[in-house]
Amino acid sequence: MKCRKCQTAAIINLREHNTAYCSNHFIQYFENRVETAIKKYSMFSRTDRLLVAVSGGKDSTTLWYVLWKLGYDVTAINIDVGTVKTDLNKLKDLASSMNSQLISVDAKDLLEGLSVVQAAKMVKRPVCSVCGSVRRYIMNKTALENGFTVLVTGHNLDDEVSFLLGNLLNWNFDYLGRQKPVLPAVEEGFSRKAKPLILLTEKETFTYALLNKLPFSHEVCAYSKEASSLHYKHVLNEIEIRHPGTKLRFYEGFQRIHLFDHHENTKTQLRKCDICGYPTTAEICSLCRIKEKLRDALGKQAF
Ligand code: ZN
Ligand code: ZN
Repeated sequence: MKCRKCQTAAIINLREHNTAYCSNHFIQYFENRVETAIKKYSMFSRTDRLLVAVSGGKDSTTLWYVLWKLGYDVTAINIDVGTVKTDLNKLKDLASSMNSQLISVDAKDLLEGLSVVQAAKMVKRPVCSVCGSVRRYIMNKTALENGFTVLVTGHNLDDEVSFLLGNLLNWNFDYLGRQKPVLPAVEEGFSRKAKPLILLTEKETFTYALLNKLPFSHEVCAYSKEASSLHYKHVLNEIEIRHPGTKLRFYEGFQRIHLFDHHENTKTQLRKCDICGYPTTAEICSLCRIKEKLRDALGKQAF
């Protein structure tokens, strides 16, 4: 197997593109794909201020690095939710080697001093749902208060197609209507959101992270409810082996047809939270509801 560009030994075979690359040409290919996704789906420009949530995993760390390398104005934020151990020092080293900023926030500061797991137990809600609420809240707040124009996330092609398959199998119109490479900002206060790695697979992202010696951990959150999505990924990989290119066709085709854009279920009305002003569909946002329940529970405990 030889590199298509320079005929030296290839390190990766990309069957979906009917090609193979050496390490240098793979890195070039990867960066071009990120740039292609950004342009194709009009995600953002070099005048935008981007905020990326880095968890310590390969996708978010790769995204932070590749956007910096491509000359975008990108800042990272690490939200400590206590369910996965993140080596903050390694992320700090990476930040200083790129001369990029790393903000770090402890979720406990928003949960009356409790960890996400403790808080979830107290308000009797799944850990993942409390974790998601807190993360989204912190991301949006940080973006609004500091003038970041776009929130970028490290979802790759495998994440997106498994999500798409799951949503189609269950006819989740609401999710299907919002499963986009980029979502516009809304005036009630949500920033624009974009997923620049959507044209790249898990294998490609992993290879890029390894070749660039990026620090990342393999640890998966123990509370992750991803069992079905892992199964969908497995099934889609089986199909991809027999029919290379299926994942890309599945995803890009879906983005072309805009099938669920105007479905009535996708039009959720947003307003501002009565307590904190955060955009929400109810009178009080999900984080404020969690906090109210926590204060109730803690109050009862004290007596
Ligand atoms: Zn080459
Ligand atoms: Zn609120």
